[in-house]
Amino acid sequence: MKHFFAGVALTLFSLTVLAQTFDVDTILYNGNINTHINIVILGDGYTVSELDLFITDATNNANALFTQVPFSNYKNYFNVFLIKVPSNVSGAAMDPNNLIDNYYGSTFWYAGIERLLVPTKNSRISSVLANNFPAYDHVLMLVNSSKYGGSGGWLATSSTNSSANEIVFHELGHSFSDLADEYWAGPQYANEAINMTQETNIENLRWKNWHGEFGVGLYPHSESPTWYRPHQNCKMRYLGVPFCAVCVEATIETVHQLVSPLLSHNPVSTNIAEPTFPLEFNLNLINPIPNTLKRTWELNGSPLNSNVDLVLLNKTDLLEGSNTLAVTVEDTTQLLRVDNHISIHLEMVNWTIQNTVTGVNSINSQSSNLKIELYPNPFSEYLNVKLLGEAKGSLTVEIADLQGKVAIASPLSPTELNTIPLNGLNSGVFIAKFYLNSKLITSKMVVKTE
Ligand SMILES: [Zn+2]
Repeated sequence: MKHFFAGVALTLFSLTVLAQTFDVDTILYNGNINTHINIVILGDGYTVSELDLFITDATNNANALFTQVPFSNYKNYFNVFLIKVPSNVSGAAMDPNNLIDNYYGSTFWYAGIERLLVPTKNSRISSVLANNFPAYDHVLMLVNSSKYGGSGGWLATSSTNSSANEIVFHELGHSFSDLADEYWAGPQYANEAINMTQETNIENLRWKNWHGEFGVGLYPHSESPTWYRPHQNCKMRYLGVPFCAVCVEATIETVHQLVSPLLSHNPVSTNIAEPTFPLEFNLNLINPIPNTLKRTWELNGSPLNSNVDLVLLNKTDLLEGSNTLAVTVEDTTQLLRVDNHISIHLEMVNWTIQNTVTGVNSINSQSSNLKIELYPNPFSEYLNVKLLGEAKGSLTVEIADLQGKVAIASPLSPTELNTIPLNGLNSGVFIAKFYLNSKLITSKMVVKTE
């Protein structure tokens, strides 16, 4: 993955700065940096003789991160690297007006707050990243001090205090998942957010799909009771506890936006002189832990084995002429409320297999990735459907009742917002079925209210 905006800014910046390169070590490698999420760990206040300690601290921190839900579930989607930059002086300053000669200018007492630990030399951070690892997605700064402290923002910073791991996870909640604090951080931080609201109507709550389960509710901040949090005991409030269901879901949404689980498929395209059976078709996927990727295979519209990465076809499986083998991949993790979640991420591959009297002579493939946004849900008058990503072919949606009776079928524009008028329906539960080239690719439950 490429951190696009920063990448552009850093390219311009690096023209004016003498490029300095440092050693980059790999802590966790799951795959190509262009297909995976790259976390880069920087270290401040580590002298040359303390760089081994930096490696140990960074490794412990990364290992601990991937014991936390949902990072543990999506560990295979991440790489972790560190950049070894030595400081002249060990540790951090205790006064922003009296910095010490560490590399990134890290200091406690930022803005007069003792625990606020901030690296102040931003140009050095930019320069080190641009010259050593411009394809970063997220950056963590570990500061070599046993004093408790840290800060958030685009860069998650923490000391090496025994609570350091927890500070980094909390700060990643801000920088990776766009979460608000669930403790009262002050009126200047009060904003509508994934996990903070002034909405009191449960039906309109951003976390309504979780409300009433797993401790998720609508809890006023006692310091400012018109603002609410979704949970009483989330890592965005207290260190040492898990993220709440709402914050876990937000993190998985970020993972899904950054990474496609379908790395490649085989064969891509091939002309065959002498076919040997069985023909092999396979997917190379990044699997969550446990593997929640649902893989649905169809040959000429009839279901084959599901949840396998490899399909073998014999000559007797094929019709004479053109055959279509299709597979859809969707993450069905229970940590997303998929039945009424607004976003659906799908990966699809279609193979066209030409089978003539003389045998199979060609196989061609096409892959698509598609994100479907479906809202509002529940709905009363209409449903909006927005398509993102690419799908090769024509898409349609059907709204059917639970008996399968289709109330409305509508073609979907791939580029514009599709508004499906549904005011004629009785209230109740319906299924929105999405078809690509007349093939069912996914279904979602939707609820019609008065
Ligand atoms: Zn939370």
